[in-house]
Amino acid sequence: MAKLYFNYSTMNAGKSTVLLQASHNYVERGMQTYLMTARLDTRAGQGRIASRIGIAQPADTYAPGDNLYTMIERRLAQPCACVFVDEAQFLEPEQVWQLARVVDDLDVPVMCFGLRVDFQGQLFPGSATLLALADEMREVRTICHCGRKATMVVRRDAAGRVVQSGDQVQVGGNDRYVSLCRRHWRAAMEGAEPDRLL
Ligand SMILES: [Zn+2]
Repeated sequence: MAKLYFNYSTMNAGKSTVLLQASHNYVERGMQTYLMTARLDTRAGQGRIASRIGIAQPADTYAPGDNLYTMIERRLAQPCACVFVDEAQFLEPEQVWQLARVVDDLDVPVMCFGLRVDFQGQLFPGSATLLALADEMREVRTICHCGRKATMVVRRDAAGRVVQSGDQVQVGGNDRYVSLCRRHWRAAMEGAEPDRLL
């Protein structure tokens, strides 16, 4: 029975690495996978999932308004053992329902990877819907500078100051984000000096 998976994490936890490794596990057993990523993310160039440790794979891209059910159904003209969706926080709620239909009606597993919360501690809409609909959820863990699990992220400006407000989505500049435990995220948002974040 196929399932909808949500692998969530904070920034820079290595979720693209986990995605590419999981896809590779299928490929080395002679199976094919379908990789998708958000089109607004141009960090790795269009249509590519890249990990910070230096591995990358080409990927199809999706944008708001795209019907992922139709895209995946079309891809299934060829063998496909599993669909992988990166940057899943950028999915629209409707697109998450389309992925659920892929799992239920086309019987193909879909593994989504994405951020749980933004720099203000708010759920991304795509992640909120995945938290509601996923059959299985797994956390890709990383740690705060203090050694506790990092579940939150702060955004910094060019001068290294913690940003309190702004758009939820700001493409690129991963080095502008620091993943922290909730205690240190609260301290950062309340104005602790930037060097305590590193
Ligand atoms: Zn901490």
